[in-house]
Amino acid sequence: MKIHAISQVLPQASYQRCHECDTLFSLPAVKSSQSAYCPRCDAKVHHGRDWSLTRLAAMAIAMLLLMPVAFSEPLLRIYLLGTKIDANVFQGIWQMTRQGDPITGAMVLFCAVGAPTTLVAALVYLYFGNILGMNLRPVLLMLDKLKEWVMLDIYLVGIGVASIKVKEYAFMQPGVGLVAFVALVVLSLLTMIHLNVEQLWERFYPQRPARAFNAQLRVCLGCHFTGVPDARGRCPRCHVPLRHRRRQSLQKSWAALIASLMFLLPANLLPISVIYVNGARQEDTILSGIISLASSNIAVAAVVFIASILVPFTKVIVLITLLLSIHFKCERGLRTRILLLRFITWIGRWSMLDLFVIALTMSLVNRDQLLAFTMGPAAFYFGAAVILTILAVEWLDSRLLWDAHESGNARFTD
Ligand SMILES: [Zn+2]
Ligand SMILES: [Zn+2]
Repeated sequence: MKIHAISQVLPQASYQRCHECDTLFSLPAVKSSQSAYCPRCDAKVHHGRDWSLTRLAAMAIAMLLLMPVAFSEPLLRIYLLGTKIDANVFQGIWQMTRQGDPITGAMVLFCAVGAPTTLVAALVYLYFGNILGMNLRPVLLMLDKLKEWVMLDIYLVGIGVASIKVKEYAFMQPGVGLVAFVALVVLSLLTMIHLNVEQLWERFYPQRPARAFNAQLRVCLGCHFTGVPDARGRCPRCHVPLRHRRRQSLQKSWAALIASLMFLLPANLLPISVIYVNGARQEDTILSGIISLASSNIAVAAVVFIASILVPFTKVIVLITLLLSIHFKCERGLRTRILLLRFITWIGRWSMLDLFVIALTMSLVNRDQLLAFTMGPAAFYFGAAVILTILAVEWLDSRLLWDAHESGNARFTD
């Protein structure tokens, strides 16, 4: 059921600030199964999904058991020039490190293995830490940030794209590890949908909500609690400094954005993949790779085009527009800009798709002199650009958009 926060004060209502637009509103008592939305910007301020810690821990244990099989058993198996070749997650990363460069390998390792493992470890820690009375704050603070880096779902799409690419060269079969990997993706998606970090905060560190109006009230971006800073200027619940606005948000966002722009150029101009066929070297940039893929499968080529070209460039253009609109205190199209920001936050991680495809293809198509696939220098620049754009969005304090809008309005009416 959808509840909109209202401005009249009801019994049991509490004052809250929206973490996206900073509006102070009064939120009526909401059941744990109900969602509530900000009256001004429609951001979700209360999630209606809630799984008990026991259930989350059970999911974590199931994922933990699946992981060794999903990561180290063959996902795809091909018969190339009379030889059987398997590819799994670790092999792809290892090939990338050995033939390409270790930093690009580390990027894939982090998104496909590191972040999911950390998610599982964090849930197990919360379960036992809660029983043993340990400090859970750092883990809860990390959980919220970790969600967008768990890219198992994107890796699964990557397996699909790689299998269609490789079909051109050889006969292919799904491997044993694929079943475990699909199960792992389903469990991780379910866990992330039902993992409600705010409810966990509420359960472990209950705080009295603000019942009376107070202009000093601030919302914490770490745990989304609305309260008055404690004596040391920190959030009473998670102990993160409670600031009016995120510090140096614009500077950090600009820095990441400009760096990602500089990486995007070599990422698109240099070859991203190199294929050796009978000793002859054939290089492909992102675009030429998509064009040659389009001749065999137009749908897959479209997916790769959206993930590798459309999304990164759209993100950069939208971010430049948003940052400039804050600097120039733009008043028009605020609603569109908020929707654009939410859209690029949601879609940004899908750009990593191409790196996953390259890692898998590298470990599959590998017959030394006769037929081999390896990555070009653009892969590193591409991965770095994608990670930097995700950080640029993460560091942008969306409340600044509303501030710029309000100051613009004030100037208009003066
Ligand atoms: Zn809002
Ligand atoms: Zn907090």
